[in-house]
Amino acid sequence: MDTAPDIVRVPDLIDPFGRAITYLRVSVTDRCDFRCVYCMSEHMTFLPKQDLLTLEELDRLCSAFVARGVRKLRITGGEPLVRKNILWLFRSLSRHLERGTLDELTLTTNGSQLAKYAADLKACGVDRINVSMDTLDPVKFKAITRWGDLGQVLLGLEAAEAAGLKVKINAVALKGVNEHEIDDLIRFAHDRGADLTLIETMPLGDIEGDRTDQYLPLSIVRARLLERWTMEDIPYRTGGPARYVRINETGGRLGFITPMTHNFCESCNRVRLTCTGTLYMCLGQDDAADLRGPLRASPDDGLLMEAIEAAIARKPKGHDFIIDRTTSKPAVSRHMSVTGG
Ligand code: SAM
Ligand code: SF4
Repeated sequence: MDTAPDIVRVPDLIDPFGRAITYLRVSVTDRCDFRCVYCMSEHMTFLPKQDLLTLEELDRLCSAFVARGVRKLRITGGEPLVRKNILWLFRSLSRHLERGTLDELTLTTNGSQLAKYAADLKACGVDRINVSMDTLDPVKFKAITRWGDLGQVLLGLEAAEAAGLKVKINAVALKGVNEHEIDDLIRFAHDRGADLTLIETMPLGDIEGDRTDQYLPLSIVRARLLERWTMEDIPYRTGGPARYVRINETGGRLGFITPMTHNFCESCNRVRLTCTGTLYMCLGQDDAADLRGPLRASPDDGLLMEAIEAAIARKPKGHDFIIDRTTSKPAVSRHMSVTGG
């Protein structure tokens, strides 16, 4: 654990396009207790456990980024709450919140383990969480997640709210699956004071089935919503790619993450670390930097910092995702569960 003094760091990881990197997403495991149809195939091959960084190593890597001006850490996966002893990492990273060198420690979860962990997460300084939930119909939920149980996720949501965690619900818009349920999801989220964010499916990793069958452009969803709801663009931002509107009828916020119909790369402030210590500078490109080597090569952070700087110096301008009938290959071969959503 580092013993750095309590100073607020100026962001100094600036990429070639002048974007300051202030947000690190960390996939702490590629494993998951669900098998969502757009994310994984049912029979996934996961990394051998011995390839994973230890929690202490993940802590050291995250702390190196905080030392270089990263202000927001999102723990994700796979399902982050299935990683053994994960609370240790949250507890350890919370020291950066206490010192004022980190603005936010948060996570994205499928909610299956929240009933167990919500109160402890809150005690570690986690304030807001993203819970992924694409439908309110238990049968559809099972069909989308293959292994998930909606009742368990709803209990998790209740536990999160009882613990005082602010919840944002994320739903991937899926053609022919939940496209006629968006109104219900809006009411469900806003009735409980939660934001709802809709996400377009991205072509990441091979899945069983054709992505064109799933892909629903949010431009279409938005046009349909405007027939029933009054929406007003608002400048609200959470540091991520979502663009928000306020729905006047509910008073709640609705976010749109549109990597396909509206590329948001020009304002990208993020990089992504996998559970094996590989840093991806863009979700939609293959270039990556190994940080495990320099991390393990020396107990001091000199080599690691050099590797981080070299990686940021080649962050690409953006992705170029395409989903259509002529483009059958995914944009990148790795699944979302590897890079972390
Ligand atoms: N297991 C956690 C969960 O589901 O929230 C965290 C990891 S998951 C990979 C993060 C987010 O990515 C989820 O909201 C999920 O719906 C979304 N996701 C997964 N695969 C995706 C894809 N191909 N396109 C768009 N979103 C995807
Ligand atoms: Fe698991 Fe999340 Fe991927 Fe679903 S989206 S399979 S819950 S990692």
